[in-house]
Amino acid sequence: MSLRPSQVPSSGVRVRFAPSPTGRLHVGNVRTALVNWLFARKAGGAVLLRFDDTDAERSKAAYVEAIRDDLGWLGLDWDEEAFQSARADRHAAVVERLKAEGRLYACYETPEELEYKRRRQRALGRPPIYDRAALALTDADRARLAAEGRRPHWRLKLDHDDIRWDDLVRGPCHYDAGHLSDPVLVRGDGTLLYMLPSVVDDIDMGITHVIRGEDHLVNTAVQIQLCRLLGGTPPAYAHLSLLTDAGGGGLSKRLGSLSVADLRDDGLEPMAVTALLARLGTSDDIAPVPDRTALVDGFDLSHFGRATPKFDPADLGRLNARLLHALEYETARPRLAALKADGGPVFWDTIRGNLTRFAEVAEWHAVAFGDVVPRARAAEDAGFLRAAREALPEAPWDAGTWGTWTGALKAATGRKGKGLFLPLRLALTGLEHGPELAALLPLIGPARAADRLARAAVVAEGLGR
Ligand code: GLU
Repeated sequence: MSLRPSQVPSSGVRVRFAPSPTGRLHVGNVRTALVNWLFARKAGGAVLLRFDDTDAERSKAAYVEAIRDDLGWLGLDWDEEAFQSARADRHAAVVERLKAEGRLYACYETPEELEYKRRRQRALGRPPIYDRAALALTDADRARLAAEGRRPHWRLKLDHDDIRWDDLVRGPCHYDAGHLSDPVLVRGDGTLLYMLPSVVDDIDMGITHVIRGEDHLVNTAVQIQLCRLLGGTPPAYAHLSLLTDAGGGGLSKRLGSLSVADLRDDGLEPMAVTALLARLGTSDDIAPVPDRTALVDGFDLSHFGRATPKFDPADLGRLNARLLHALEYETARPRLAALKADGGPVFWDTIRGNLTRFAEVAEWHAVAFGDVVPRARAAEDAGFLRAAREALPEAPWDAGTWGTWTGALKAATGRKGKGLFLPLRLALTGLEHGPELAALLPLIGPARAADRLARAAVVAEGLGR
């Protein structure tokens, strides 16, 4: 992939976003992708999109495509792409090396046996840590188990030392490896779990910073040790607090599985999604920003805290609206044209403050220039609407026309407030709420206004029968 000049890595910072292509991106992993991207772009570093696709059964090409699409929609680009599955030989070679060094040892316990051990440990008030029974097996034991048809899984023999790192979000972290189970790196069927390919690829791909969710904290302890064992230098780590839903009790299943595709289908602006997710969990203001450059400029990893940020779709809706309200005509123009709703700058400035989703412009475009279904609220308004039609000022109309017209109507009918304005709004727009009629009226123009008032009068009469 070619690099745009602004993205040519100069700082040596290299991050990876490593989704497993076993489903669509959801809010949580998009946030991880975004924070990696912001960190790299701010540092002038490189972003690697690495598909963690070692699970051949669950990984699907369609998800690879969907993940690329979703990132593209959000405006997150990447400088390189890699697939773990293409590196199977390299991973296998590392496995062989660790076996030869005695760091990977064969274990034969079934899941049930392991569960039994854990239950007993818990009953004795001990932590459920693997007891390393397999280390005591003799060659004869192993031969016997193999003859029974058991195929071993392989665990990494951890050094029981204190594993420390300075987390860029959480500060100093440490785990006593003696309190961790030796992790299984290779399954009984020979396939690899996530742990080893991730470390090997992070080393080989020169990853300098690993930014991910705090659900990976224990993995990090293991990965730091494994990385050193393989002769690598561990990258810097940053663990983001996981999002919770508005109630604060973890991300509910519904929100947790809220996908980028859902947000897109909901008509949300990608900038609203990124502006919210980029700042959730920081001390920074969540505000509409015009573009990604502004998001990058305002990004600082050190502003992320340990508190659990709340993800509330209502916040996203509000931010989306604020973004649209601030959108300049020139920026909106191509999108208006694509919706065949480009009514010019005055139209845009008149209606943008009413938008919650961009697609709603089509509705306002019809109100201003197309067809609406005029409404009326009561039979008694029929005469008033006719009188209003008669009193429409001469063209040309401008921003003062509404005041002139309604002032005359007020004087002639004695109506005021809602009794004066609501029948006019319902007749002219077919809606109870909307943009300032003073601004809308000149766009609607004399012909459409007269027609709608006449039709609304008929509707009003119909209500009396
Ligand atoms: N594929 C892993 C995941 O989606 C990557 C975790 C990591 O960042 O190392 O959880």
